[in-house]
Amino acid sequence: MELPFAESYKIKMVEPIYRSTRKQREEWIKAANYNLFNLRSEQVYIDLLTDSGTGAMSDQQWAALMTGDESYAGSSSYFNLKDAIKNIFGFDYFLPTHQGRAAENVLFSVLVKENDVIPGNSHFDTTKGHIEFRNARTVDCTIDEAFDTESEHPFKGNIDLSKLETVYSTIDTEKIPMIIVTLTCNTSGGQPVSMRNLREVSALSKKYGVKVVFDSARFAENAWFIQQREEEYRNKSIKQIVLEMYSYADAMTMSSKKDGIVNIGGFMAMRTEELFKQASVFNIMFEGFNTYGGMAGRDMNALAVGLHEITDGHYLGNRIGQVNYLGNKLINWHIPVQKPIGGHAVFIDATKFLQHVPKEEYIAQTLAIELYLEAGVRGVEVGTLLADRDPETKENRYPRLEMLRLAIPRRTYTNNHMDVVAMALKNIFDRRESIETGFRIKREAPIMRHFSVELEKV
Ligand SMILES: *Cc1c(COP(=O)(O)O)cnc(C)c1O
Repeated sequence: MELPFAESYKIKMVEPIYRSTRKQREEWIKAANYNLFNLRSEQVYIDLLTDSGTGAMSDQQWAALMTGDESYAGSSSYFNLKDAIKNIFGFDYFLPTHQGRAAENVLFSVLVKENDVIPGNSHFDTTKGHIEFRNARTVDCTIDEAFDTESEHPFKGNIDLSKLETVYSTIDTEKIPMIIVTLTCNTSGGQPVSMRNLREVSALSKKYGVKVVFDSARFAENAWFIQQREEEYRNKSIKQIVLEMYSYADAMTMSSKKDGIVNIGGFMAMRTEELFKQASVFNIMFEGFNTYGGMAGRDMNALAVGLHEITDGHYLGNRIGQVNYLGNKLINWHIPVQKPIGGHAVFIDATKFLQHVPKEEYIAQTLAIELYLEAGVRGVEVGTLLADRDPETKENRYPRLEMLRLAIPRRTYTNNHMDVVAMALKNIFDRRESIETGFRIKREAPIMRHFSVELEKV
């Protein structure tokens, strides 16, 4: 018989977690104004809020931390990271930042001007925030299949080339400083972009003189899907695939808190010295001198090791295997999830799950709160709260998908934890007909409101 799944690591250090009672959770979530971001971590049993900065570092990464070089200029840790980035992505130039959004802030300070248009595949919320903050706008060119949760399209993160060509041919390309391709595409469910699509997007953008930037938080997971699902790449290593992917980009931004398996950090990398020099002016102003820019030497060292570990095929098979394990349990119980299951998270289609809650009452947030009350599991809304208001009309934007995201931290939980999460969802699914009302907003911030919004029961 085939041997079953098992984690590709053993555990050297543990962190206790505790189960609370439903009564405790009812009090805590009310005091948190029904915003899961306001809970204290001790009030959460299994935390699937995000896979960002929540992964477990390896013994090799901890060892690298101890040999970090904290010199202000020219530290060996900087050069270790520079070598890793050159090795894995092929870029000669890079600038460290304290996290991914800082890389966006620096790079967009160079590239984005008022009234610019930046196409892409469902831009990440901080990316969109940094663009709209500069009075520029995004255009979503993701393929339509991405918005049909039942479609089994293998690359639902793909850019629709005809949508992209429409943008390029109807808008003055002087106003299009770049296209941003997000790998994997978080907003559409942790869905990958195919190598073929990257190649075609690159060719089309070159034709119109538009720069190609990869928002790279989950680049290795994307590479794994290319290896599994694109015939010509079956026998290529993850490292070979990543190198080819980035041969189609002019620059990248990276949140190292995801596929860097470190708890904090980010960077941007680019092909030309010119862009590097322009960006370094802003990096020095906002982040720090070029050879540390917002990161401690020790953290750059751990990241250099993390980039090599993440591009290991065994690691990725295990990682995505665990996400699949949870997703398949839910599918077997007919719980509506985004298919195929993505790389870092299982996305539940809240509109199909809670059919009686009106969209004005934040369906996915309602489901997130139910899951917390049921088992102390914290997920996150990827729906109307996250989509925010239209910057011009100030009306709620209702996205095409209302989802509850269960993001799985890297190397942190076992499949026993996944079993608890699955059973909690099944319990709610069994009584879904009785859930008829949601929440309304008491208070919200003018931008990126989901982090601080205060809600009350309808
Ligand atoms: C997390 C993330 C960012 C922002 O990075 P931070 O490290 O959280 O600032 C940008 N893009 C994508 C796709 C991300 O997942």
